[in-house]
Amino acid sequence: MFAMQLKKPRTPLEWVELPDPEPGEGQIRVKVLACGVCRTDLHVVDGDLTHPALPVIPGHEIVGRIDAIGPGVTDLSIGERVGIPWLGHTCGHCLYCDEGKENLCDHPLFTGYTRNGGYATSAVADAHYTFPLGEAGDDVSLAPLLCAGLIGWRSLSHAGDGKKIGLYGFGAAAHIIAQVLRWQGREVYAFTSPGDVEKQAFARSLGAVWAGGSDEAPPELLDGAIIFAPVGSLVPAALKAIRKGRRVVCAGIHMSEIPAFSYDILWEEREIVSIANLTRQDGIDFLSLAPKIGIRVSTTPYPLREANKALDDLRHGRFDGAAVLVP
Ligand SMILES: [Zn+2]
Ligand SMILES: [Zn+2]
Repeated sequence: MFAMQLKKPRTPLEWVELPDPEPGEGQIRVKVLACGVCRTDLHVVDGDLTHPALPVIPGHEIVGRIDAIGPGVTDLSIGERVGIPWLGHTCGHCLYCDEGKENLCDHPLFTGYTRNGGYATSAVADAHYTFPLGEAGDDVSLAPLLCAGLIGWRSLSHAGDGKKIGLYGFGAAAHIIAQVLRWQGREVYAFTSPGDVEKQAFARSLGAVWAGGSDEAPPELLDGAIIFAPVGSLVPAALKAIRKGRRVVCAGIHMSEIPAFSYDILWEEREIVSIANLTRQDGIDFLSLAPKIGIRVSTTPYPLREANKALDDLRHGRFDGAAVLVP
């Protein structure tokens, strides 16, 4: 198989040829059809996440077709199209797994970080952590649902049920969640980098009732906010934008330092929470809902070999929506 491999943080991915991986007990192998490029991949490549299993193949928004099955897999078959997300494995018996919080498992494996992912022509995954995708929808459009969509969905479920929801950072996740919010009859307030009028227009095109820079105050206090951009200074900005008793959800896996802020913007029972990983139930819930909502994912496809360019374009916000690698 061919892959784009990270040998050392802060160096470009390298095109490599490797032996085809063999699925072990309880595993499947897929021929990769498409793999989304997530901001977390940038954090892996940049060394912000400090425990990659090097050398590692990034990528955890994998759409693939099963072409080999390991011993003990009974509920999936050759030829089936499946999605492979970030959560690749959990131990099943730690305190968190026992509490039904497998997203917080003490001994997890993460696709494209602590095990090889989908910037490749083939990938192996634990069968019980994949999602059957059926045949509706094209491979490239489905890929971003597997993290941007799933993590966005989990973040939204923690943001409360208020009507006016602020989204900070209008990239892959926000452009999907904006459509979910509209479908739910709620209002989207989109915050972009100051002066990014293109992204603000993109947000309005998806139904945002207001779009502006993250240095601006929304026209009214919000009922909740989700921060997708990895920028710590957005936490106090979002706290100032929400009303009493409401919540700011930090959706990312990494964020720059949060600056000190005055207690009065947190007081009155405002809350800050973070979202970590996903549970399989999040995936089942969201992937069954997505076709009903009719989510349209804006994608920019890149050939697999151009993974470094896709990452660089993501870093500099050069496209709307999500980048997707196609082998
Ligand atoms: Zn566990
Ligand atoms: Zn991701």
